[in-house]
Amino acid sequence: MADSSELRFATRLIHAGQGPDPAHGAVMPPIYQTSTFAFKGFDEPGTYDYTRSGNPTRAQLEACLASLEGGTHGFVFSTGMAATATMLSDFCCGDHLVVHDDLYGGTYRLLTEVVASRGIAVDFVDLRDLDALDAAITPATRAIWIETPTNPLMNLVDLAAVSELARARSVMTICDNTFLSPYFQRPLELGVDVVMHSTTKYINGHSDVVGGALITRDEAIAERIGFLQNALGAAEAPFDCFLVLRGVKTLALRMEAHNANALAIARWLEAHPAITQVLHPGLPSHPQHALALRQATGFGGTFSFRIKGGREEARRFLEACELFILAESLGGVESLIEQPYTMTHVSMPEEVRRRIGITEDLIRVSVGIEHVGDLIADLDQALGRIV
Ligand SMILES: *Cc1c(COP(=O)(O)O)cnc(C)c1O
Repeated sequence: MADSSELRFATRLIHAGQGPDPAHGAVMPPIYQTSTFAFKGFDEPGTYDYTRSGNPTRAQLEACLASLEGGTHGFVFSTGMAATATMLSDFCCGDHLVVHDDLYGGTYRLLTEVVASRGIAVDFVDLRDLDALDAAITPATRAIWIETPTNPLMNLVDLAAVSELARARSVMTICDNTFLSPYFQRPLELGVDVVMHSTTKYINGHSDVVGGALITRDEAIAERIGFLQNALGAAEAPFDCFLVLRGVKTLALRMEAHNANALAIARWLEAHPAITQVLHPGLPSHPQHALALRQATGFGGTFSFRIKGGREEARRFLEACELFILAESLGGVESLIEQPYTMTHVSMPEEVRRRIGITEDLIRVSVGIEHVGDLIADLDQALGRIV
């Protein structure tokens, strides 16, 4: 089809990288459920030769996600962690990475228990502090790993400022954009070199598949990621690519609904006597509210809050929720609730959790697209158990 970069976002969700199948005109992408492809002749492979290296269903998803993020190259993986692990395989002993000190628990575990043991130095720095970032960069620093908003504390990193500083020091920047999705935030347009996604979350949006992605507009970086995707072999399977292609079509509609519901619930919680703090970048009480308005066009559907009390109150509250399902993960059409301290962030050492504020009173919600009145009624009856 014509250059899809000229089409608007909601149109690219449906059409970018996709089009009727050349073989039979199928309007929806066929699932090329094959491991291998026939050569056209001796020493003459077709466009594809082997599914680890490339597959037409996967290529459609990769092109679509690249377009959505404003990139030129997309790569999809079996999970978000597979995308992260593949990206981090680009670094080797003697290299130094600067990583935001508040991030997805699995990324923290991979960095501290796998990447660091390969002889790569990893420094965790509060990237809200540009002077601290500047001081942390050494001649060995190869990359800065950013996550914004952070999980679960909803802190923001100024993407334009960090990228500018990194560029001046010839350091690459990578941003985990899972929480807002390209519908609300496009890091490449703010100067970031690589965007990472857990497509498990908002991009697929239906809690029925795991997947990950890396997207860039830098040719040299794209070549390295493409090599690593094939060499390491963690690419997304064709059937899963089909599911993500199907899920992403409604991203614009879903993100609007997640955003509106979450903001309404955050405002309601802020006035509730059993709540001590609401961490939501869309609230004027958030210390980085102005930055949220500047670098993103919405706030997403996931945020955290603190209840009065600790472990016992959290247990009573979480066990009383009926509509909100007690589960890890986020970004699906259904509402989920969890306690990061005992669930998503349990792989983070206890003293680190406490130091950064992941304590027993902290609750994270992934607000779905149900009717907001029913969601508030559920939280209201459950909070009744702790006041
Ligand atoms: C879930 C998640 C990941 C990891 O993705 P998986 O698909 O679970 O491997 C990474 N970063 C963030 C912010 C996430 O929410």
